[in-house]
Amino acid sequence: MNPVGKPGKAGSLMAVEVALARLLEMAEASTIGERERLPLAQVEGRILADDLVSTLDLPPWPNSAMDGYALRVADWTGEPLMVSQKIFAGQAPGPLKPGTCARIFTGAPVPAGADCVEMQENAEVQADERVRFIEAMTPGQNIRPQGQETTVGEIVLPAGTRLGPIEQGLAASLGCAELNVVRKVRVAVLSTGDELIEPGQPLGPGQIYNSNRVLLCSWLQRLGCEVIDAGILPDDLAATRARLGELKDVDLILSTGGVSVGEADFLGIALREEGELTLWKLAIKPGKPLTFGHFRGVPVIGLPGNPASTLVTFALLARPYLLRRQGVKEVEPLKFQVPAGFDWPKAGNRREYLRGRLENGRAIIYKNQSSGVLRSAAWADGLVEVLEDRTLIEGDDVNFIPLSEVLS
Ligand code: AMP
Ligand code: MG
Repeated sequence: MNPVGKPGKAGSLMAVEVALARLLEMAEASTIGERERLPLAQVEGRILADDLVSTLDLPPWPNSAMDGYALRVADWTGEPLMVSQKIFAGQAPGPLKPGTCARIFTGAPVPAGADCVEMQENAEVQADERVRFIEAMTPGQNIRPQGQETTVGEIVLPAGTRLGPIEQGLAASLGCAELNVVRKVRVAVLSTGDELIEPGQPLGPGQIYNSNRVLLCSWLQRLGCEVIDAGILPDDLAATRARLGELKDVDLILSTGGVSVGEADFLGIALREEGELTLWKLAIKPGKPLTFGHFRGVPVIGLPGNPASTLVTFALLARPYLLRRQGVKEVEPLKFQVPAGFDWPKAGNRREYLRGRLENGRAIIYKNQSSGVLRSAAWADGLVEVLEDRTLIEGDDVNFIPLSEVLS
């Protein structure tokens, strides 16, 4: 049983999918058009700019899937056959002499005239070196047909594909030495807050160490972005204006902190003065306040400052936005249903992303889900999604988003 609470309690909060749809729409309006051509070994983590169209049939010719013997099924009468040629991978055989077989090895081209390969385990070499086949054979067996993987002209990878080791291997199999990729998206990372200092310095009264800066910079690098570390911004309007003004040559300014309601919101003031600002209250927890705007034409996303909120809103909103800016179509993480290993007795009006783990096939959650507790995410393997207005009893299905899905 999945007890569902009263719908529509979220009130004026914006649903996560609505915010995501708006962000993706804005990303599509400013996709990065510039591209570069790179050697295949250097495209890992980049986005393919043009469809990869096959200029080959793959495999280019029928070849043997086994070490054994190539023959024509119709030539087998039960009598042993003479071996008329030996074909290794890398050789170009002549046609098979009728009434004979060919010794053949895995990956070698099947000679014209042969229509099957029998594996050597089912063959007996006689004293006179002829070969006896033990079982009946069928045409096509153990032959990888020409073009079974792809044929000339097929789109093998569409533009917008994120390239990784598998795609690099596939491109190599088609003979591509270079690929056109989208230029890296340039992201400036800003941490806001008078309380922040960097690790390595002594902690003064009221201060905390800046965890979001390194978290986001590393994460963005994993996503293939060019990261401009714009440091810590004090809670001060003049400093905010000046720092934003320096960040001209970037595709996105990504800030954390300073978006909570009621705070002196200098980023917001600066954006309103010299650009535009929308402040969203999202039905998401951790999270809720998120800003999107422009400063002198440069898009700005302001994430909430609590580290677990930064993590969740980056994973679910900023990451898909950045991928879409580069033309990626599949931007949402894979999620799958698992039974909850916990009770959730009190329905909330925001969608919860609990830091959790799979244990014995059930999702369990970290004991402290405070948005300030980043340790919850270090403990976790994934985000457990509990929909708004929903209560759960152990065994009810919840969505699980592996952190590995969003971290790269
Ligand atoms: P804010 O959104 O600025 O009100 O920040 C919310 C909470 O997150 C406050 O407790 C901040 O001290 C904390 N916080 C903001 N930025 C960071 C940061 N870069 N690293 C660690 N904690 C932060
Ligand atoms: Mg702050």
